[in-house]
Amino acid sequence: MDKKGKVYIMGAGPGDAELLTLKGKRAIEEADCVVYDRLINNRILNYARKDAEMIYLGKGNTEGGLIQDEINETIVKKALEGKVVARVKGGDPFVFGRGGEEIQALFENGIEFEEIPGITSSISVPAYAGIPVTHRGMARSFHVFTGHTMADGDWHNFEAIAKLDGTLVFLMGIKNLPIIVGDLIKNGKDSKTPVAIIEKGATADQRVTVGTLENIIELSQEKKIVPPAITIIGEVVNLRDTFKWFETTQLFGKKVLVTRDRRQAGEFSNKIEKMGGVAIELPFINIESTLDKLDREQLKRYSALLFNSPNGVREFMNKVEDIRDIAHLKIGAVGSKTKELLEGYKIKADFIPEEYLVDRLAEESIKYTNPGDRILIITSDISPCDVDKFNSIYNRNFDKIVAYKTKRIIRDKKEVLSNLKKVEIVTFLSSSTVDAFMASIENDLEAVKDIKFASIGPVTSDTMRKYGLNVDFEAKVYDVNGIIEAIK
Ligand code: SAH
Repeated sequence: MDKKGKVYIMGAGPGDAELLTLKGKRAIEEADCVVYDRLINNRILNYARKDAEMIYLGKGNTEGGLIQDEINETIVKKALEGKVVARVKGGDPFVFGRGGEEIQALFENGIEFEEIPGITSSISVPAYAGIPVTHRGMARSFHVFTGHTMADGDWHNFEAIAKLDGTLVFLMGIKNLPIIVGDLIKNGKDSKTPVAIIEKGATADQRVTVGTLENIIELSQEKKIVPPAITIIGEVVNLRDTFKWFETTQLFGKKVLVTRDRRQAGEFSNKIEKMGGVAIELPFINIESTLDKLDREQLKRYSALLFNSPNGVREFMNKVEDIRDIAHLKIGAVGSKTKELLEGYKIKADFIPEEYLVDRLAEESIKYTNPGDRILIITSDISPCDVDKFNSIYNRNFDKIVAYKTKRIIRDKKEVLSNLKKVEIVTFLSSSTVDAFMASIENDLEAVKDIKFASIGPVTSDTMRKYGLNVDFEAKVYDVNGIIEAIK
């Protein structure tokens, strides 16, 4: 039987990835095919399945594009192939998003669809600039316009618009700004009315220009304002002085490259974005499980179990058949994240060394065991975990299980360089990411001379220095929070 396709015409909100709705997230997770445009935050595409087909059909110029036919054809074609398609648009699909035209095309072809509203930039971008579109006693309505003329030259009735008391919001209004401002003043709008233009709202590149109808054209030329931008006109603009919040977040404007593996990158990126920064994810390692089965009998012979990373906990716990098999073991962990993960399995670590290093973990385990005891360390293929050394220093029998492999991803140099253009800071959370990064850029130090580098701790920093990279920030506590603190 033929599978029937379906299309979600959905809004993704403005630049901030967290402004996606839960329903929108579900649609992306479900989709066989994702068709997206330029105004969305690409991070939300990570919710797509690994095998989903990703199609970029963006309009280079956000003030009117010509590829709408191609978009309609693509979503119809994919749905007729039986695919679930998420058509992901910036803001809301029905607010100058041409969602209606796409639905018409689907309807004509008998294709099932759903519309998932998104947070439109017309209210959220002003909000990120600290400007409410309505305010008690100041603006009792707001009016949203396109600043773009239709092909046949139809233009708004500015005689009526100039008389409105509410807040005026123009999308796609940059090219025609002189006409808009001119028509408002000509029709009697007070030339002292405050105006704000917000470029790339809700992103790390957000820039807000504030003026009045009288001087905004001059200001926009001076500051070389470019789309995508929202123009907001009315007294509410003055509230920005007090209501401004986004630009004052601690990492505002900082663009950070996240190099860790895809599975763990999200948590780190979210922390960066929560503080107003932007995370661009480009993994240089991939974590692969190498643990098939745990020998239950063998586990009985140990007195202590040591984890030197969260991945180790994850891989090991996946393979535990009966939690009581490890009930007799003293447990040690490196790092707060590893500790937290263990707590997720209702396991309280007996010890966590102050310094997040496997050598300290081995040292500390002595206090919890007796001479001759067997101690098992769960680690990765490349972790600096030298059991022979531990056996020679301490009167114990250390063993290790390599629970996962860290595979370096060597990327195309051009791809890396184009991502580096978008960031100011590169973060390394392990030596292997440094190795893969340097191999990818072919050790070209000249190409990274303007970039700042952040390291999770001394081991990673040593690797960075070995390649001739500067360590501009080093975490004091060797974890994700530590590296963010260091950047701050
Ligand atoms: N459907 C979208 C609007 C699409 S029209 C929505 O509901 O938001 C494209 C215009 O939206 C741009 O020219 C600009 O005026 C506005 N816009 C969208 N995202 C924006 C952003 N992050 N910052 C500033 N303006 C934005």
